[in-house]
Amino acid sequence: MSELPRIDVRELPSKGITYPEGWKVYYRPYSVGDILALSQSKLQLGDIYKKIAAGIETVGFPVENLLWNDFILLSLFRKCTSLPIEYFIADGEKCEKCGEPIDHRFHLEDLDFEEPKFNKNVIIIKVKDVEFRMRPWTLGMEIEKLETLDETKGVLDYLKLMVDGDKELFDKRMRECTEEAWKPLYQLWSYLFLTVWDLKAPCKKCGTENKISVRAGGRRLTPFCRSAGPAEVWIDLG
Ligand SMILES: [Zn+2]
Repeated sequence: MSELPRIDVRELPSKGITYPEGWKVYYRPYSVGDILALSQSKLQLGDIYKKIAAGIETVGFPVENLLWNDFILLSLFRKCTSLPIEYFIADGEKCEKCGEPIDHRFHLEDLDFEEPKFNKNVIIIKVKDVEFRMRPWTLGMEIEKLETLDETKGVLDYLKLMVDGDKELFDKRMRECTEEAWKPLYQLWSYLFLTVWDLKAPCKKCGTENKISVRAGGRRLTPFCRSAGPAEVWIDLG
């Protein structure tokens, strides 16, 4: 690891609720070498996350066990402390009412992270009389999802990654359930996936309040990114 200063993080969106007692998290700004490595356009998203995570140090638990929204914040911390940026720009989308391109400036403090609704590392659910241990969505699960699942996969595949135990048995039991029984599953997904709430971006032309999603992470978490056109939202450097 480089000699760049190590910055202690005391407050995280998850409040460290799933981390062992005495946990510590540090991050370092990017070195020039890191930035060059991350600027390669051929990098897969999973590799990008691994490179971002290489500058995050966790004590008491592996970095892969960082909850997803903690990782989003830490990525943005790494980005902000490496470069003299005053604000982020969320662009690439158009106003849902009038079509005017959205060019919304915001600060890190404007991001609103979801508070955890659980206070344990493991949530036990029962499917057809079998108990399964589920863990909240982590960086490691996000990387595993990117590396093993294609885009056609659905909520069951994501939930399988959260199962701490026999994933195939979980899959089998779930497929035996009725459609009605699946409803709580969607709730469980949103319960265990801690998010960042959408940003509200008023249109400069017509005033309509548009919503910009930042929950999915993506290349916007890297120190540099280019706008990818209207289909995607990017948070770029100011
Ligand atoms: Zn508008």
